[in-house]
Amino acid sequence: MPGFTRYECPLRTCEWHHNEPFPTDILAITLHPDAATLAECNGEYMTAAGLMTARAERQRVEGIIRAHVETHSVEEWMREVQTLRGELAEARAAVAPQGI
Ligand SMILES: [Zn+2]
Repeated sequence: MPGFTRYECPLRTCEWHHNEPFPTDILAITLHPDAATLAECNGEYMTAAGLMTARAERQRVEGIIRAHVETHSVEEWMREVQTLRGELAEARAAVAPQGI
């Protein structure tokens, strides 16, 4: 069974996640060593059609993530950022040299 990439909602109050299987089948179809037009993508050479497919896949996954992210209110995001800022300040204070 191929692996997957898990995308998790960054809000601590939310347990949403999306598991995206590795696109091994897409790469197998779109990689073509004899293609006239090649472009490098993550160290691999892909045809223009392959790049378009990869782009479409990325946009599809981004759409899934965006659809979830938009279910949260601005207030929820601001509350999370504020909490993180507090934790960051505490962490910085903990590692800062004492007596300065
Ligand atoms: Zn969420």
